[in-house]
Amino acid sequence: MTQKITVIRGDGIGPEIMDATLFVLGKLDTGFEYEDADAGLVALEKHGDLMPASTLESIARNKIALKSPLTTPVGGGFTSINVSLRRHFDLYANVRPAVSFPNTKSRFGDGVDLITVRENTEGAYLAEGQEVSADGETAFSGTRITRKGSERIVRYAFELARSTGRKKVTAVHKANIIKSTSGLFLAVAREVAAKYPDIEFQEMIVDNCCMQLVMRPEQFDVIVTTNLFGDIISDLCAGLVGGLGLAPGANIGENAAIFEAVHGTAPDIAGQGKANPCALLLAAAQMLDHVGQTDNAERLRKAIVATLEAKDSLTGDLGGTGNTMGFAQAIASRL
Ligand code: ATP
Ligand code: MG
Repeated sequence: MTQKITVIRGDGIGPEIMDATLFVLGKLDTGFEYEDADAGLVALEKHGDLMPASTLESIARNKIALKSPLTTPVGGGFTSINVSLRRHFDLYANVRPAVSFPNTKSRFGDGVDLITVRENTEGAYLAEGQEVSADGETAFSGTRITRKGSERIVRYAFELARSTGRKKVTAVHKANIIKSTSGLFLAVAREVAAKYPDIEFQEMIVDNCCMQLVMRPEQFDVIVTTNLFGDIISDLCAGLVGGLGLAPGANIGENAAIFEAVHGTAPDIAGQGKANPCALLLAAAQMLDHVGQTDNAERLRKAIVATLEAKDSLTGDLGGTGNTMGFAQAIASRL
């Protein structure tokens, strides 16, 4: 059976990096079939809707989307498209690999190769609990952690470790102080870990984790944590390896998974062939892992690394003078 993928070309540099990514994927034997769907400004102009129902239907049908960055117009009361997608499909896992690449601006040489798995639907991000007293003197915000939410995110982290040949999962928490919510997350993490004896399990308090990430990032493999800690830690990790042009991410739920670049639409360089396609390509590698094509994922990542190593056709953000498609061709030639 061929796997259909919903393709959202997006705004700004989106179409350019998508063309480059689909070109490279075309050189792998993936069996993918692509279905174009509009979202963002393009969709607003064509259909009067930032996220048309037909696009949601396409994602629901195919269960997998590869998505370029989208513009949510400022003002006009638009909810961020990414937030509405996450809610609509209950995309509970935000998965962000951080890997050191050769010839990129990074403080840490080549030691970092980790994935953060952030719970994306509960924790301290529940807007419903927020309150400021009438006199403005006191503010309150609730945090809710559920067994179900914790279980599925930790299980996802272990399954990811297993399917991608990783050896260790670190659960990051603050259960020593926030005994109720972080305590529940940790207790559930321990229970789930017991079912994966082949994967090493480690617990780490979040403040120590931040220090360890900066001092010895190579000790980490898969990190799993609650929403707010995950938000902070995944950006810390992106900073460790440096370079927005190389950071992919995935939002994963039971019924859909969306793979994307972490960066935005970069209007300053749009339409000029200057965009680095690597973040979306690396998101495509995550997508290959997700559908069980781990060999293709590995080939793609190795070709990217080899191209960076050779400094062949790199784009301006990486210090080169190449263009988006030329860079993609250099990568494709190494597959
Ligand atoms: P948005 O409003 O969609 O977030 P932005 O301008 O904030 O758009 P970012 O993607 O956050 O865009 O980009 C910040 C800076 O990084 C910009 O100067 C942009 O040109 C650069 N940049 C982002 N992505 C890439 C890329 N893939 N290749 C090269 N430069 C990039
Ligand atoms: Mg931005």
